[in-house]
Amino acid sequence: MIKIGVLNLQGDISEHVEMTKKTIAKMKIEAEVSKVNTSSEVAECNGIIISGGESTVIGRLIKENGIDQVIKENKISVLGTCAGMVLLGQETDYDQPLLDLIPMKVKRNGFGRQKASFEAELELKITNNPYPGVFIRAPYACHVKDKATTLGKFHDKIIAVAYKNHLAAAFHPELTEDTRIHEYFIKEVLNCVE
Ligand code: GLN
Repeated sequence: MIKIGVLNLQGDISEHVEMTKKTIAKMKIEAEVSKVNTSSEVAECNGIIISGGESTVIGRLIKENGIDQVIKENKISVLGTCAGMVLLGQETDYDQPLLDLIPMKVKRNGFGRQKASFEAELELKITNNPYPGVFIRAPYACHVKDKATTLGKFHDKIIAVAYKNHLAAAFHPELTEDTRIHEYFIKEVLNCVE
């Protein structure tokens, strides 16, 4: 039985819980999902999802609660979407706390004001294309380093990255009906547990 926790600090948390439930049912696996608030709750999880929201706020709360330490010590897999992608990075263009779990530089609100929110069909290496991308004041990765893998680009901007057992997406899979990103993440979590 694996346990997925959706970090319950700020952002679109319930949507990720619902999407994860739907994905678990579809995959027919022994897994449970719950909202997690504290570092001890995080420590009990095999995978953590960091939702969209305000990365400055979520990052501050993560540090205050020592959640980043627990994720690193226990080598917990992380899926970060939108603000969660920013937090997974090593560097960004703002002065804010980051988890530094994926060697990439992230540009916040990278698609500018006019295109603050939009939907686009994406070509991703991990799905049978296309994938319906929902972007809301989305970031992108300026570059990735080491063995981080670019999984997809949109208009030449990197919008999905995998590194070790972590996955970052600039868009919002939890706001679609498409479970393929969550499926990919849960498979990663299962690989790490076996
Ligand atoms: N622009 C936000 C940030 O960088 C992310 C927006 C979102 O998660 N929808 O924190």
